[in-house]
Amino acid sequence: MGMPKAMVDRKKCLSCGGCISVCPQDALSMEGMKALVEDDKCISCAICIRICPVGAISGEVYS
Ligand code: SF4
Ligand code: SF4
Repeated sequence: MGMPKAMVDRKKCLSCGGCISVCPQDALSMEGMKALVEDDKCISCAICIRICPVGAISGEVYS
């Protein structure tokens, strides 16, 4: 079983791109104008969760 990964709530995402620029794993990209996490790249560091201005990113390990 792998680590819980970051997850983007597409309804909350404002497409600001902030999370994409800070992810050390390049695991985030824009998909249909919303941020998307590639699970196989995400190391659950939570940097994107802290940077998102609208709290659109969550992950079990950080709750
Ligand atoms: S938790 Fe870390 S590795 Fe995973 S998507 Fe967010 S910034 Fe990238
Ligand atoms: S930082 Fe938040 S609002 Fe901005 S693109 Fe990422 S998930 Fe969307």
